[in-house]
Amino acid sequence: MNLDQVRTKLLALRNELTSRHERIEKHIHHRDEPRAADSEERAGEMTNDETMELLDANALSELQQIDHALARIDAGTYGTCETCQRPIADDRLEFLPFASRCVGCAG
Ligand SMILES: [Zn+2]
Repeated sequence: MNLDQVRTKLLALRNELTSRHERIEKHIHHRDEPRAADSEERAGEMTNDETMELLDANALSELQQIDHALARIDAGTYGTCETCQRPIADDRLEFLPFASRCVGCAG
């Protein structure tokens, strides 16, 4: 496994998630326009906000996992399962570069 490649991949993913997070934050907090007067429309807006907040929570949780993976590259423990200490399969890391546990332990 090429750790430089992994790091590059993680950093690219990190950039993507950071800009997604910023877009979502802007969407949630940008309130220049007055809220819809109609109550039905307002209900729709609320649901949308909740969806956006959920997306934001996902993005933030992935960002944390990416930072954790980058720290593990620096520490030399990347690719080792945090639970059973055995190597994480390459194809799993290919699919989920910030995985910190093997399939067995994550499942
Ligand atoms: Zn494991």
